[in-house]
Amino acid sequence: MIVRRTLCAAAAAVAASLTAMAHAEWFSRTNDGIMGTRIVVELWADDATQANGAIDAVMEEMQRIDRDMSTYKPDSEVSRVNDNAAKAPMEISAELFDLLSTALEYSRITEGAFDITYASVGYMYDFRAHKKPTEEQIEAALPAVNYRHVILDPEKRTVFFSQPGVRIDLGGIGKGHAVDRGIAILEARGVEHALVTAGGDSRIIGDRFGKPWIVAIRHPDDKERVIAKIPLVDTAISTSGDYERYFDEDGVRYHHIIDPRTGHSASKVRSATVLASTATRTDGLSKTAFVLGADEAIRIYNGLDDVDAILVTPDGRVLYTKGLEQAAPPPDGAHRDAAPPSAPDASAAAAPGAPTNP
Ligand code: ADP
Ligand code: MG
Repeated sequence: MIVRRTLCAAAAAVAASLTAMAHAEWFSRTNDGIMGTRIVVELWADDATQANGAIDAVMEEMQRIDRDMSTYKPDSEVSRVNDNAAKAPMEISAELFDLLSTALEYSRITEGAFDITYASVGYMYDFRAHKKPTEEQIEAALPAVNYRHVILDPEKRTVFFSQPGVRIDLGGIGKGHAVDRGIAILEARGVEHALVTAGGDSRIIGDRFGKPWIVAIRHPDDKERVIAKIPLVDTAISTSGDYERYFDEDGVRYHHIIDPRTGHSASKVRSATVLASTATRTDGLSKTAFVLGADEAIRIYNGLDDVDAILVTPDGRVLYTKGLEQAAPPPDGAHRDAAPPSAPDASAAAAPGAPTNP
């Protein structure tokens, strides 16, 4: 559905791009120091001053969001919410209020798989230090994990935690939000062709040299191996994988997506790529299949008009939602339902998981 729509948009945009191409050019910048991840901004602009001003503005916005929303920063607004919201309702910024409302909406859509209160248990994991909570610690913290404990009052613009021990973390939606804010900044400056990426979350406006962007989805165990390529214009895309932040111990993979019902890493798929109109939405929905499993997640995604997804299961199958099955042929040599996934494609393997357009 999305691919069909975006391909039509790509065709319509070719003429406009070709005429603009005589004067403008592509500008690109990568920053590895914001939100603990890689930020990439690429855009089509008339000159370097315009391009650099726009890219600076996006990077500054990402830095601001990191300062306000990171739980690694004790002074951030979100850290203050975690410190205070169980004592009394706390007034918060309109931006945070809206993002919390959206997060709770995604909890309802995903039947609780997406849940920012996962952090009530999640804060005890440190994947870099190979640290995980004991079963007793998980059991003690688990009652605090439930998005229904987060009470929002739109009139007073407050947040209240109905239980002690509740913590929130926006790691599962904040990068998508930052990408959308970046795109809004570019659009306000008249940019019509751009890509903004924060880690696994990207959004594209327009096309690139009159062609769609090509997004390569990597194999979970081999970042050089591509299992699917999707052409995209004017859409957002997020990929979550159990290979992003993890450690292996006694044959078990401990990774950064947590099942809110158990407090353990959620391992029902190896990777999930979600397409929708905003990166906040794709980010928020890309954790679902890890928790609920591929079939349940596909049922949920197929019930949402604007959402498509590609899932890789633990036994190596690649599953697509309805919209993609009809519109996107599998890449050369790929088997939709066969293990292991397809042979690599050298051109796309250069930047797996991130939009490219060679
Ligand atoms: P990235 O951080 O690279 O964007 P993801 O989009 O896959 O990766 O999000 C993973 C992050 O989501 C975790 O690091 C954690 O902060 C958060 N998270 C983990 N489990 C859940 C969950 N069940 N619901 C909401 N957020 C979660
Ligand atoms: Mg993300």
